[in-house]
Amino acid sequence: MTEEYVDQALIREAGRIIREGGLVAFPTETVYGLGGDALNPSSSKKIYAAKGRPSDNPLIIHIADLSALSSIVREVPESAEKLALRFWPGPLTMIFHKSERVPFETTGGLDTVAVRMPSNRIAQELIRAAGGYVAAPSANRSGRPSPTIAKYVAEDLEGRVEMIIDGGDVEIGLESTILDLTADRPMILRPGYITRQKLEEVLYEVEEDSTILKDDCGQAPKAPGMKYRHYAPRGELTVVKGTEERVVRYINEHCHTWHGNNKKTGVIATDETISLYHVDVCRSVGGRADEETIARELYRVLREFDDEKVEVIYAEAFDDSGIGQAIMNRLLKAAGYRIISV
Ligand code: AMP
Ligand code: MG
Repeated sequence: MTEEYVDQALIREAGRIIREGGLVAFPTETVYGLGGDALNPSSSKKIYAAKGRPSDNPLIIHIADLSALSSIVREVPESAEKLALRFWPGPLTMIFHKSERVPFETTGGLDTVAVRMPSNRIAQELIRAAGGYVAAPSANRSGRPSPTIAKYVAEDLEGRVEMIIDGGDVEIGLESTILDLTADRPMILRPGYITRQKLEEVLYEVEEDSTILKDDCGQAPKAPGMKYRHYAPRGELTVVKGTEERVVRYINEHCHTWHGNNKKTGVIATDETISLYHVDVCRSVGGRADEETIARELYRVLREFDDEKVEVIYAEAFDDSGIGQAIMNRLLKAAGYRIISV
């Protein structure tokens, strides 16, 4: 990350674009964001149009200073103050009751608003230059894996936004943890780098939306966006769970059959298993014990399968504790919840 050097002329220009109602894609520590003025209803509409995103899927407002929070929310609960002190700036989004300043176009018609303070320097300086409130979903076309490098932003959004700021590789690679503070008890709506255990070091008890790791048909996720197919590569993705030996055997056998049917095959492997597969495209997301690397590599690898035009993809399953929960949440969504136990 070229954190030390931030081109001030570029930031000023990007800030002007957003203040005048345009869109700028920019790096954050989680994934690249597609930014517009959060307090301008027409900017939010443009964001939905550029992404092809359903307009009932609310946007997260990004701020750069804690003092900006009080004017967009009805009240700041004590729990939020504690969490902000510990985790902001950083990959935690909190949901509050919104104030009148926030247009319903930004919140997808909801009375609540999601707010985050990113730690990435370019993001912080852009937010300040843009007037302090930047609505920014991930900078991908709706349904696609979130971009972790500027090249993938350009692939999805070139010609649909006024500017794309290249800040190199992101640090985390998965979207923020979303915590709802408007219910009786704090509830995680989307898992992320900041895990339940870390949140419970600050708050006594944190609940989790029951739809995080399963396709709970009867139950709508509380974060509207989580109900949509997401993060998906173009090839058909299946997650395979079991002992290493069985998983490798299952995937090799099935890829062999697909290959015989003229389908290009791919595997999301780990450093431990990458040499064991006989498929067209095999990519490791890192060592099994290194969750942070797996989180950072996952979306890039999914996009690489598209670059290589892979048609059938198998992924090893990951342990779903800690950051692994966020990894499995994204992987299962990308697979449309197709998971096989062997
Ligand atoms: P993205 O901007 O692509 O990271 O997605 C934002 C996520 O935040 C989506 O899943 C939204 O549904 C969720 N979200 C944003 N605002 C709210 C809100 N007020 N209440 C619940 N979920 C929200
Ligand atoms: Mg997104």
